[in-house]
Amino acid sequence: MQTSFSLAQLADPDIAESERILRACVHCGFCTATCPTYVLLGDELDSPRGRIYLIKDMLEHERPATAEVVKHIDRCLSCLACMTTCPSGVHYMHLVDHARVHIEDTYRRPLLDRLLRTVVATVLPNPWLFRTSLRLSRLAKPLVPLLKTIGLDRLAAMLDLAPTTLPASPDQRGKVFPAQGRRHGRVALLDGCANPVLAPSINASAIRLLNRHGIEVVIAPGEGCCGALVHHMGRDKTALRQARNNIDAWTREIERDGLDAILITTSGCGTTVKDYGFMFRSDPAYADKAARISALANDIAEYVVQLPLAASPAARLRVAYHAPCSLQHGQKAAREPKTLLARAGFDVKDVPEGHLCCGSAGTYNMLQPEIARRLAIRKAANIERVKPDVVATSNLGCMVQIARATTIPMVHVVELMDWATGGPRPDSLKGVNFETMSANVHERVM
Ligand code: SF4
Ligand code: SF4
Repeated sequence: MQTSFSLAQLADPDIAESERILRACVHCGFCTATCPTYVLLGDELDSPRGRIYLIKDMLEHERPATAEVVKHIDRCLSCLACMTTCPSGVHYMHLVDHARVHIEDTYRRPLLDRLLRTVVATVLPNPWLFRTSLRLSRLAKPLVPLLKTIGLDRLAAMLDLAPTTLPASPDQRGKVFPAQGRRHGRVALLDGCANPVLAPSINASAIRLLNRHGIEVVIAPGEGCCGALVHHMGRDKTALRQARNNIDAWTREIERDGLDAILITTSGCGTTVKDYGFMFRSDPAYADKAARISALANDIAEYVVQLPLAASPAARLRVAYHAPCSLQHGQKAAREPKTLLARAGFDVKDVPEGHLCCGSAGTYNMLQPEIARRLAIRKAANIERVKPDVVATSNLGCMVQIARATTIPMVHVVELMDWATGGPRPDSLKGVNFETMSANVHERVM
């Protein structure tokens, strides 16, 4: 694609990077076929190619974002299916991240929009605030139908997503979980922000699985949210501050006792931590440290697949593997979880239309509830076509989103792997009788 940025504009490293990305696009439109919003809405401006044109125009002419541009960029899930499809290697992720920062800097959103986004950006990355607000939101759940009726769909979606019960979640930060037997490795595990509040069983399974195979696990003191959530909202300063905090926490751990890897059980976070090197490329104080952290970052399955596992399934289950977009398109690492599950003896099935997002996409299901709802229903219908006993995935957001549209139990891959190597049955499978279960009677609940 031809561009006409001035030399003065290109002196800005972010503009220079976006220009490089724009020039790689040859307008072929292959990406439109796999873009979930184009598939649903059929509008070129809701396709990657259309958004690329909008972003080019906005950046090249140094225009403040308009309501029309914001509408189409906000509808983008950042699922990155377009990057998998693109034959020219267009790095859409970095381009749309830049566009979101520009929108945040130049566009004043309507008051309610600003309030909702501020609440999401403040509450979700803070486990204490998140837990407290989830408890309070239980009281407001009966208001969901009323909120929908008066057009407050996003507020209704937020309340709707809040679980009715919360598991107990001990604070694990700073704890070291020693290897069983001889130590073969030492890793840091990202505890994160939503996982410990909504599903602490995921990281508990990961720790047991690793310890059982001779790996010491540390939750680095001082670690917190990886910054992914606000990064995708264009709130770059906050994202960089949160990322710096984690870089410092993990660097201290590397210097103290060494780390073989930094493991992440939420693939959305993994994509961002693997991108820290890029995010800090122009920061002399952090560029090297960030690149080192990104090089150590692994999805949990990428690391565990290299271990000699003694696994056998505790039940002969047909497992549909839902590959989160952040893992399959963002990290190109969706093969490893399936290899692990198959090695443990599970009957692993791919989900038809597996390249399409389930609609979770970080905060997308709160901020764009209608598109997210349609994608969840489509995903659940595709999952049900393979008649699985259980759906396994690698991202808590996908688990919550898909569970809204099907009654098939959802688990994280590490929960199944922990079970198959001697750990307890995953909570979501307790009480499920697989002998009598008929996969084709799952009732849609959304
Ligand atoms: S597939 Fe790649 S090169 Fe073709 S229009 Fe889409 S982004 Fe541009
Ligand atoms: S990231 Fe996903 S939703 Fe956004 S343009 Fe690419 S394919 Fe479409």
